[in-house]
Parts: sequence; structure tokens; C-alpha cells
Amino acid sequence: MKVLVCVKRVVDYNVKIRVKSDGTGVDVANVKMSMNPFDEIALEEAVRLREAGVATEVVAVTCGVTQCQETLRTAMAIGSDRAILVESTDELQPLAVAKILKALVDKEQPGLIILGKQAIDDDSNQTGQMLAALAGLPQATFASKVVVADGKATVSREVDGGSETLSLKLPAVVTTDLRLNEPRYVTLPNIMKAKKKPLETLKLADFGVDVTPRLKTLKVVEPPKRSAGVMVPDVKTLVEKLKNEAKVL
Ligand code: AMP
Repeated sequence: MKVLVCVKRVVDYNVKIRVKSDGTGVDVANVKMSMNPFDEIALEEAVRLREAGVATEVVAVTCGVTQCQETLRTAMAIGSDRAILVESTDELQPLAVAKILKALVDKEQPGLIILGKQAIDDDSNQTGQMLAALAGLPQATFASKVVVADGKATVSREVDGGSETLSLKLPAVVTTDLRLNEPRYVTLPNIMKAKKKPLETLKLADFGVDVTPRLKTLKVVEPPKRSAGVMVPDVKTLVEKLKNEAKVL
């Protein structure tokens, strides 16, 4: 079984992001970029499936600018066998990415497609769901456990008030939650090995997919500064303040 893992290059989670002075977006010039953390988890899960003999091949895929090749080299250092970059300088919103991924799913015919539950740059939490809808495949989002056997994936996922277990007929789309696994560290020998693994670059134009943005960002602003806290002498004063000042009780 082939597993397709979708990875996105995003601003590193340790970076304190700055809003551009004209309020049109986030400044990414000279900022450290990394693989979306949920996608590392997706990749780790796919590599574990291959190591367990359940999957035969892990293919990492990303849609974006030429520099995304770095992210794909990291993916191959973590353990994917090969990688595909769909190169584009256009802004790619989740629907556009889902359409491209659908075309890749048609071409690659994977048994399982794993994505992150969300990308930490746009926090959309849409691509996996849209891909499943476009490809007509079953989906299980926010997976905290995945077991693949007998042409089925059994996926546990946390829901409000408990945990739910779904059984999906393969091929299927799964998106990862934080609890699914702890991704491995990339080792130097694996970074060296990854340099020799195949990285295929495809042009967006060859997909014949309409990637016109459907959403318009009106304004991006910094979150309001938090005002200083107040020390209260006792619980009685706290309750009074919550009632009369904050008006939350
Ligand atoms: P989002 O819907 O933007 O929050 O992204 C959810 C997941 O979709 C990410 O964790 C990735 O696995 C995948 N994804 C989003 N954008 C891309 C992209 N440009 N290339 C590859 N995968 C992507």
C-alpha cells in the first residue's frame, strides 16, 4: 500500500510573527520556515506504517514555491521514500490545494492519504476535508490512533465529551491530531541519505486546475496587548470583581 503524505512549508512555530505594516498579511521575509508540525506527525505515522510492513511506499507531497524542496528533503530525512513538489508562486488557498491533491491522488492511487489537521499559518483546517469530498473518499479527521488492516483503517478521534472510533474502507483520507504520535528527530545520516532520494517537480500549469483565490483577506492586525493583571486580597473580592467589573458571573 502506498501512503501519500501532504506536507506544508510554514513559518516555524518558534518564530514570533510580525504583521506587515500595510496590514495585508504576515511578514515572511527572512523568517525561519519549517514543516507544519501536524504534517510531521502525519509523516511519522506513514513511516511507522511502512516500518510495520503495512505500507510499502511513503510519498511526501507539497504545493508551493521552489523553496518547499527543503521541506521535502526534511520529509525524506524523516523517512519518506520520495517526494513530489507541485511548484507554484500563486497564493494557494485550501480549496486550490485540495484540487491539486485530488489530481495527484488520481495519478498516484495511494491506499491512504494523511494530512495534518491544520496548517499553523492559516489555521484553516479545511484541506483534508475538501480533498476527501473532491476525491469521493471516506475521511477521519483529528486522528489520535490509526490501525490499518484488511483493507480498512480504524481511526480513533477525540470528540466533545469522549472518543470516537471510525472504520474506513481504503483508500481513505486521515488528518492528524497532536496525540497521534511523537515524531522522530532527523538524524545527520538520514539527512545525507535524503539528498539521494527522488524529488519530482511538477508544474501547476500541467494540472489544469483552477486555483483562483475564493477568499479575500481584508486586514491582518496584531492581537490587542494584554493589560496588566490585578492582585486581589481574597476570594470574596475576586467574586465581587468578576460580578461587578468583569460582569462574567
Ligand atoms: P489547512 O486546511 O490549510 O489548515 O491545512 C491542513 C493540512 O493540509 C496541512 O496540515 C497539510 O497536511 C495539508 N496542506 C495544506 N496546504 C498544503 C500545501 N500547500 N501543500 C501540501 N499540503 C498542504
